[in-house]
Amino acid sequence: MPFVLPPLPYDYAALEPQLDAATMRFHHDNHHNTYVTNLNNALANYPDLQSLSLEALLGDLEALPEAIRTAVRNNGGGHWNHSLFWELMTPDAGGAPTGPLAEALNTAFGSFADFQEKFKAAALGRFGSGWVWLVANPDKSLTITSTPNQDSPLMEGKQVILGLDVWEHAYYLKYQFKRAGYVDAWWHIVNWAKVAALYAA
Ligand code: MN
Repeated sequence: MPFVLPPLPYDYAALEPQLDAATMRFHHDNHHNTYVTNLNNALANYPDLQSLSLEALLGDLEALPEAIRTAVRNNGGGHWNHSLFWELMTPDAGGAPTGPLAEALNTAFGSFADFQEKFKAAALGRFGSGWVWLVANPDKSLTITSTPNQDSPLMEGKQVILGLDVWEHAYYLKYQFKRAGYVDAWWHIVNWAKVAALYAA
């Protein structure tokens, strides 16, 4: 089994009150774990593919056998997206980004507040299940984008530096249908140091 569920980098309750322990437990131990299990199952009969990195698999889905392409897309995407998502949050969060990341946000969106407004609009505009992303372009400019299901900008060769899971499983226990409340709360737990590190890289 080539892929393994990474442990949460903090306690289940560490992101309260914005994200409750029950949501984090279900989200990580059940939802994310299921993506990992199903990804491994999809690759079970393809030993040659098991040695590839997740990024290599997702970066060239067209090269995969058609029989497992959708399974790898959905479950490999789910594994990659969630592995990043946990790292993008921290109980030690606070404030706004600084340095080159802050400057790039100002250039692209006018101000940090304008960026937050546009990112939230993209989150609310994603019908059904999916993700909202901040992508760093090759020229270091920034773009907000959104994908359905467990698709990722990685699948188009793009560099993600921030992502928000807007599947109902990410927020329904605490926020029910109020996705806007989830997005507003989420800003308080964003790990801007991690985002800045991804941007610098
Ligand atoms: Mn999720």
